[in-house]
Order: sequence, then structure tokens, then C-alpha cells
Amino acid sequence: MSRITWNQYFMAQSSLLALRSTCERLSVGATIVRDKRIIAGGYNGSISGGVHCRDEGCYVIDGHCVRTIHAEMNALLQCAKFGVPTTGAEIYVTHFPCLQCCKAIIQSGMKKVYYAEDYKNHPYAIELFEQSGVDTELVPLEEQYDLISRSKRELAEELLEELVKANADQATIRKLTNQFNHLFEPEKYHL
Ligand SMILES: [Zn+2]
Ligand SMILES: [Zn+2]
Repeated sequence: MSRITWNQYFMAQSSLLALRSTCERLSVGATIVRDKRIIAGGYNGSISGGVHCRDEGCYVIDGHCVRTIHAEMNALLQCAKFGVPTTGAEIYVTHFPCLQCCKAIIQSGMKKVYYAEDYKNHPYAIELFEQSGVDTELVPLEEQYDLISRSKRELAEELLEELVKANADQATIRKLTNQFNHLFEPEKYHL
């Protein structure tokens, strides 16, 4: 296995954060990075202690859920809360920022936005980013964080056992066992 790139590493962090989202409309994650160090992270969700869209349904006004604070905002507010400067920082988001987040990102002094997916990219947000010299770059996530990898492994193990029971061809079993080990126990081969 090759070493994960910085871009993929930070974007994976954001996609992991998105799994914590409490709004059912869209799961977004954001990671703020300075000098290749993660300084804050956020996902879209209610205010601390508030009810969750997942439990109560979204609170929709004019087609938008108004209950949640966006991931980018939450990450920025974490910096405010703990007194961490954002000047010159970069942000990795799973989706292209909305207009409100775009303005907050610009105003916080961040210099670059990496996003994994286009999402209703607002022309005015694009214009504002350009105007303020904030670079935007599409960084699609190469690997999805797999929440069911354990189940997949169990299924593969079961299939191999069934092949042995069924007296399948030895060479085939050896070949498939090898492939299984490469997939599920790479440390045996690479470390
Ligand atoms: Zn919601
Ligand atoms: Zn937003």
C-alpha cells in the first residue's frame, strides 16, 4: 500500500466527520488545516444540546434546513472558541461551500478551499472566492471510509470455508486465500 497523500488524508478526515452529521438532508464534514496540521474540524448539526434533525425531522424554511450549523461554520467556531488563528489556513470540505460559508471562509483569512464534490456551486460564491484570491480545488476522495468492512471480511471468510468444504480445486483455494490476505491482512505483506 502506498502512503496516503496529504490531500487524501485531510479529505478522508472530513468525510469521517461527515458521518457525525445529525441532519438527514446532507452529511458534510470540514477540516481546517494549517502548516499540514489539523487545527479544527466540524460537521453539520444542531447547536450543542439542541434537538437533532435525525430525531425530530428537519426544520425547513425556503427549502433549507435552518436547524443546523454548517460544517465549515462549526470548524471556524471551534477556532473562535479555543482562540486558534485561521489566517492563511486551508479548509477541506466534503461539498462545495454554500454562499454563507463562502463569505465566512474568506473573512476568516483562509487561503484555500479543497472540496471533494460539487454541490450547487453558487456562481456568486465562485465569484467571491476569485475576487478575494481564495483558491478552490476539487479533490475527489479516492477511498470511501468503509463502515461495513468487518461484515465484508466475514462474508469472504465464510465463502473461503465453503470452498474448502466443497472440496474445491486446491490451487484455486490457495489463490483466493492469497487474495483474501492481500485485501484484509495487508500488514503481513507490507510491514
Ligand atoms: Zn436538518
Ligand atoms: Zn454552508
